[in-house]
Amino acid sequence: MNHTAINHTIDLHSHTRYSDGTLTLPELLEQAKQQGVTHLAVTDHDAISAHFEDATSIEGINVIPGTEISCQYGNREIHIVGLFIDPNEPKLKAFIKRQQHQRKERMQQYVEKLVKCGLPDFSESIAEVKADSLTRTHLSQIMVQSGAVASIDKVFKRYIGRKGSAYVAMAWPALEEVVSVIKEAGGVAVIAHPQRYQLSRKQLQMLIDDFVDAGGEAVEMAYPNINVQVNQWLTKVLLQRKLYASQGSDYHGPEWKWVRPGYFAPMPKELCPVWQHPRAKSYFG
Ligand code: AMP
Ligand code: MN
Ligand code: MN
Ligand code: MN
Repeated sequence: MNHTAINHTIDLHSHTRYSDGTLTLPELLEQAKQQGVTHLAVTDHDAISAHFEDATSIEGINVIPGTEISCQYGNREIHIVGLFIDPNEPKLKAFIKRQQHQRKERMQQYVEKLVKCGLPDFSESIAEVKADSLTRTHLSQIMVQSGAVASIDKVFKRYIGRKGSAYVAMAWPALEEVVSVIKEAGGVAVIAHPQRYQLSRKQLQMLIDDFVDAGGEAVEMAYPNINVQVNQWLTKVLLQRKLYASQGSDYHGPEWKWVRPGYFAPMPKELCPVWQHPRAKSYFG
């Protein structure tokens, strides 16, 4: 396995301003193009509005419709990326609307909890956020800009991260429901960044087993900052389970200077890339 980051033409995980990215869709496509990306999946958190914009106006880059859905797995929040989805599918549209509504209510709870922690009331700034999906990224940026907390890192560690004092435990839809919504919209379900959940190998194995039982078909195996040993172990699991492998930068915008579209270590060669899935055909020719 090659551990050095290189430029890829295929990047299947990215964000725009419709969720917590800082770029508009045309700006994102321009950045990706400059990095040599020819196929970019736009996967906003619980949002699909990007796929109703006319992206074909930018030459030299193919946009793949996707989304990154927050789901509940035990006491964890797991992200499931849906690739090659039909953004017009009615059940998906209704589901996304519910997620965005839940996100709004959750943000209110965060604001209240932060006030109880002695921090200012951030509701006015939150109300000014234009995104479809309100995320903790928005909240963290507001908290730092207000001067209340010194850094984004501290915001998550002290307050809004899983172990923070103002963390709001959510009841996101179950893994099974999320996978089924993606499949009904014609998409392929992908476990996003499996190494970012602080799960043990045993827990990861269980997650993958449950995901396969639910009809999930792929796992991200190439993205920034992965542990090589864990990835080698995951490779064996994917081969056993005959799962496809996906790859993506999880690019949110130029503010995150260490992340670039299409830039990460390659996936293990023995895996079958998700762009060979029958559903990917119309996008990859
Ligand atoms: P949410 O979907 O609202 O729970 O927000 C999750 C998003 O917050 C992730 O997609 C990341 O972009 C961001 N995030 C999560 N943890 C951290 C962290 N420790 N530091 C900075 N950003 C984070
Ligand atoms: Mn994000
Ligand atoms: Mn994610
Ligand atoms: Mn993401």
